[in-house]
Amino acid sequence: MGKLDVAILRYLTSEDFRVLTAVEMGMKNHELVPGSLVASIANLRHGGVHKLMKELCKHRLLTYERGKHYDGYRLTNAGYDYLALKALTNRKVISSFGNQIGVGKESNIYTVADEDHNPLCLKLHRLGRTCFRNIKGKRDYHAHRNRASWLYLSRISATKEFAYMKALYDRDFPVPKPVDFNRHCVVMELVTGGPLTHVTAVEDPETLYDELMNLIVRLGNSGVIHGDFNEFNIMINEQGQPVIIDFPQMVSTSHSNAEYYFDRDVKCVREFFKKRFGYESSLYPKFSDIERSDELDAEVACSGYSRGDDERLLREMGIAMEVSGEEQSSEEEEEDMQTQRGSFGGEDELDVLRQQVEDSIKHDETKHVQEIIKKTAK
Ligand code: ADP
Ligand code: MG
Repeated sequence: MGKLDVAILRYLTSEDFRVLTAVEMGMKNHELVPGSLVASIANLRHGGVHKLMKELCKHRLLTYERGKHYDGYRLTNAGYDYLALKALTNRKVISSFGNQIGVGKESNIYTVADEDHNPLCLKLHRLGRTCFRNIKGKRDYHAHRNRASWLYLSRISATKEFAYMKALYDRDFPVPKPVDFNRHCVVMELVTGGPLTHVTAVEDPETLYDELMNLIVRLGNSGVIHGDFNEFNIMINEQGQPVIIDFPQMVSTSHSNAEYYFDRDVKCVREFFKKRFGYESSLYPKFSDIERSDELDAEVACSGYSRGDDERLLREMGIAMEVSGEEQSSEEEEEDMQTQRGSFGGEDELDVLRQQVEDSIKHDETKHVQEIIKKTAK
């Protein structure tokens, strides 16, 4: 699972793409999307769609499953990967695929290249449902929806990562240059060298230690905490300089647990340096050392990737964030319920979804993509 089978992409037509997009749209409100609904959203003949879906199931881009109340289709990881990769190839952000270079707990990392053969890094976010809970009292309704949510959680994670990376890069923090994102995929600069965890010895641990601690403080002064500042998320490039990666979990220094996260990041570095390099220092930053001089946290929150947006999106999906610890007001709940009651309530909403499919397809350059894939997927 998780392997990117680029060869499959070769065989897909624009009608396949239309069907996959329709299933994606349907999954906004359905865990399993009935075939008739897919046909309706895709605006294709029912019989034709049925055949296409059968083929897509064979290629494992869709699965057909029996639900409690009805049967239907859902996108697989590979199906969702394909939609995102197609969007990115259409935009000419990437034009060939290389090897998998990493498997994180919640991601797969690949090398890719742009049209000029410049290497890039592609991160596919894969989130499950583990850190989310049902909203109280709506369990039945949401139990039905939750399995579709990996798609939205992965998308939120990628969107957040891109937003933070961009804000950090714009401020000259040593992070990979963000290139583009789509759905659950982020494209960024490929960092040379390797993660700090592969480094067995350094000439001058003190200098590197100071650099890392200064980075933690500089982040704090900008209003953010990395939140997972460990030897796997600190790359050491060929020049021996640290480059920080992996941002979906970043938090604001105004977060109620900010000091805890800050101290934990500092502790990670101290313990690693002691264990790996036998280096210890009595000097290390404290949360109270932070002198706020920037609003990076607010900028990311306002850039359309905000926590508010996440929560609205998740609420649409019927789930609440564990981290928020807040309950919805009854007013919001009512609004929420109304949104849900309206789910596929009528032709209006179907029209909106159909339009979204049309919009996606208008930018379709299937031929172009097929060419590229033919060239690269040997
Ligand atoms: P996760 O969230 O799953 O931990 P990461 O962003 O930390 O994902 O990436 C996992 C691994 O992939 C990293 O430890 C690193 O080895 C590699 N990696 C990630 N981003 C890059 C990049 N831009 N350039 C080179 N290698 C990378
Ligand atoms: Mg990581």
